[in-house]
Amino acid sequence: MKRKKRFLLWAMLVILSFSIYGCSSQVKKQETTGVAMGTIVTQTVYVRESSKEDKTDITAQITNLLNDTEAQISWRLDTSDVSHINAAAGNAEGYELPENLSENFEVIWQVSKASGGAFDLTVAPVVRLWDIDTWVMKEAEELSAEIIPTKEQIKDKLSVTGYEDVAFADGKIYLPEGYMLDLGAAGKGMACDRIVELLESQEQGNAEVQGAVISLGGNILTYGSKPDGTAWKVGIVDPFRPDRYLGALTLSGTKFVTTSGDYERYVEIDGVRYHHIIDPSTGYPADSGVRSVTILSENGLIGDALSTACFVLGREKALELAKEYEVEILIVTQDGEIVMSEGMEKVFSLSK
Ligand code: AMP
Ligand code: MG
Repeated sequence: MKRKKRFLLWAMLVILSFSIYGCSSQVKKQETTGVAMGTIVTQTVYVRESSKEDKTDITAQITNLLNDTEAQISWRLDTSDVSHINAAAGNAEGYELPENLSENFEVIWQVSKASGGAFDLTVAPVVRLWDIDTWVMKEAEELSAEIIPTKEQIKDKLSVTGYEDVAFADGKIYLPEGYMLDLGAAGKGMACDRIVELLESQEQGNAEVQGAVISLGGNILTYGSKPDGTAWKVGIVDPFRPDRYLGALTLSGTKFVTTSGDYERYVEIDGVRYHHIIDPSTGYPADSGVRSVTILSENGLIGDALSTACFVLGREKALELAKEYEVEILIVTQDGEIVMSEGMEKVFSLSK
């Protein structure tokens, strides 16, 4: 009887250890750096692999998703939905929004409204007049005061902007003649939301994602957890020294960290900095007393749209808007002061 008991115990241990072995799966790290959506993309993905045969390359799937998103929303590509929308401006029939854009447009329009137009999805004609993206490619000696748009030109372009003139009805979008959309301030956040959907989806073959950190320029996404159980650390660039970090956020789970700053894309002409974030109320690069704004949010699109809006709004109004949207915010002012919401203070630590 004693022997039988001992045998049963032994058999149970064998079964248990086999089942642990069978369930246990190796966690592999997949890493890549590349270019997508006009920015450098770095990906670190921790994947549990339960079969040696099926090694799903999640990073390749994410890259494809980013390329698909760009193909859908880039105004530079004639075949994108945004180009079709722009081409239909002034057309009484409007343009039928694909399902995966419809809700996003609603969110973008709401941020435009809530920010009093500081974020404006129709600011494209003014953005293109400034053409900072082309100027940043030029040598310093090719840049002179002559390329700066005149007040008349700016006024002219401002007359074909205004989020409140965009209409939505029955799944369609209607733009007045001459209007254009630019999703440059929200597209990467939108793409981050799609990445989370991809990581969460069950269609990952035999691989399951335990954790990931993905950076698309000023947009960083953390997902799940690290295999060693430590928290994610997300660096915040020092706008006064963009080659350095001002500090870092200690985060767990799925979070979106989005920064808008005047150091990201700019040119200097006669000692004046002209950067890529336009104040739609003036038509000039925003000069609201801040150098960068970081939003910590539970949604990528909202974080991206708000980082731009808050940069334009400046310190006081930015804090109010962040509160309204229940996101955390970190502002670096032109005086070098760091202003944070309460929740941000809890996760931010200054670089030593
Ligand atoms: P971000 O880096 O997310 O702040 O986005 C900046 C980009 O959004 C610019 O390069 C423009 O294409 C576009 N943009 C600039 N100013 C605005 C604005 N006030 N509202 C919406 N989009 C803007
Ligand atoms: Mg943005």
